[in-house]
Amino acid sequence: MVNYYNRDLYKTLNVNIDATAEEIKSAYRKLVRKYHPDVSKNVDNELKFKEIQEAYEILSDYESRKKYDVLKGFYSEKIKKKYEQKVNEAKEKTDTYIKKEQKNETFSSSLNQAIDKLFYGKKLDNNPVRHSVNGEDINIDLKISCFESLNGTNRKVNILHTEPCPKCGGRKFINDTQCPMCNGTGMLSLQKKINVKIPKGVKTGSKVRVRKEGNKGINGGKDGDLYLNITVEKHPYFEFDGLNILCVLPITPFEAVLGTEVSVPVPDGSVSVKIPPMTSSGQKLKIAAQGIENKTKSKRGDLIITVQIKLPDKLSQSEIDLYNNLKNLSAYDIRKDFYNAK
Ligand SMILES: [Zn+2]
Repeated sequence: MVNYYNRDLYKTLNVNIDATAEEIKSAYRKLVRKYHPDVSKNVDNELKFKEIQEAYEILSDYESRKKYDVLKGFYSEKIKKKYEQKVNEAKEKTDTYIKKEQKNETFSSSLNQAIDKLFYGKKLDNNPVRHSVNGEDINIDLKISCFESLNGTNRKVNILHTEPCPKCGGRKFINDTQCPMCNGTGMLSLQKKINVKIPKGVKTGSKVRVRKEGNKGINGGKDGDLYLNITVEKHPYFEFDGLNILCVLPITPFEAVLGTEVSVPVPDGSVSVKIPPMTSSGQKLKIAAQGIENKTKSKRGDLIITVQIKLPDKLSQSEIDLYNNLKNLSAYDIRKDFYNAK
């Protein structure tokens, strides 16, 4: 199912969130005349037309528009608007208003019915969300390092989700008075920190599902799930090629000459790698069976190191003096092959 929760369907139809059912219909007709594939030959408009149709499908249906509004928080905005309007009307027509009250029609329930009638074209009782509504799924993007993707990881993620208001229990009213905590929406948007386990081997484009951590269902509706859209960040020195780990290892010019021993991280810890004396930049070293293990563990890739001679950001004057000494000492023609090559 398409996740409508992330879209502004009202914007798609070019109407305000408090548009009446009649206004929505006429806005839709207007857009259809403009974007219908039979009328418009523009290919981009095909997608637009599809979006318009989907938006109209949701917003023209009483149940689905209300569900969408509740989840988007538009419902509370509407109640607020209508409430202000009602108070103003009441001020002007105090007499009529008092008569209504005497007819045992409480302010809040008549308010609620008025909203339902105005915005959704349907009259309701004063507890309009008795039907169950499933919570929407939540999608968030999560970046992980290549080593986290290799070994799996535990992450804390912040999500904004909706859940039934704890004060009124999602019923919107307490003793016929609009619940002050949720402003009569029955729902609250809350920040929540949750621990998620990212399994081994996820890749860019993988989706990790965390059950029941989406928006909470209403009146016994199912809770939505949380989906983490994974991006594995590019590492400056490591890359994976099948089961092999490719590593660019920076060494200093004197390490290149004298040789050294370097600790290199591998999936299950680190491995000590000997760089032999007189190693040039670009030279490759293969450390067998220190790569990635395959699932059945019967096979393990290699660690393939490419040496990169790197200069420090800064050299002291005495270091530069030593390099000058080296320069004067050396008689070797390093570009002999370069000029002789044919
Ligand atoms: Zn409440």
